[in-house]
Amino acid sequence: MLENISEINIVRIGKCITYSSLKEIGEKIVKSFRGMIEEFKIFHHEAPAVDTIDALLLTMILHEEIGGHILGITDADLTTQDEDEFYNTIFGGKNAMNDVAVVSTRRLEPSDVTSEANYDLYVDRTIKVSLHEVGHNFGLTDHASYKSAQDGSLCPMSRGEFNKFGYLGYVRAIIDGRGMNFCDECTQFLKKSRPFQRRFARLLKDKCDLH
Ligand SMILES: [Zn+2]
Ligand SMILES: [Zn+2]
Repeated sequence: MLENISEINIVRIGKCITYSSLKEIGEKIVKSFRGMIEEFKIFHHEAPAVDTIDALLLTMILHEEIGGHILGITDADLTTQDEDEFYNTIFGGKNAMNDVAVVSTRRLEPSDVTSEANYDLYVDRTIKVSLHEVGHNFGLTDHASYKSAQDGSLCPMSRGEFNKFGYLGYVRAIIDGRGMNFCDECTQFLKKSRPFQRRFARLLKDKCDLH
């Protein structure tokens, strides 16, 4: 796994986001993971229009059909088998059995995505959830939201209490609060793990991470 980690395949599933926004997402990922990710490719995956899809199933489909290090972006709700109903639908997930992370844009939409400002916010949120999930591909783990990057924004690996915020509150407080730079601890981890990234990712991610 993670043999080709310096290259990421960004796969759009559905029509949620424009090609130029996918390019922007790819560029920001390369920037935030400087030295780790050098290039990205964009794919479109034709899929039947569905309202919900199981997150792990989607990672398996993308792994089979495209392969490699993947970030899938779908406009369907991602569902899980979690027994806590609050976690039944999630913003993103990562399957430790392959190198595929998936993000759902469904709950990141401001009320009116046709306005330009709201569309920009929607893309910005998608980038932030994407950085978090790709971070898991490198073995980073969630941490509390009080850890900030040097620019004062929350680290992309920040996580808050779902039950405390609710979906919309979570998006505004945690996802909107995140920046594009990782906190010192995460940055150090990425630097140290670089020579060992393949092995580390396997050792640290022995279970699926869904939220
Ligand atoms: Zn996470
Ligand atoms: Zn961090």
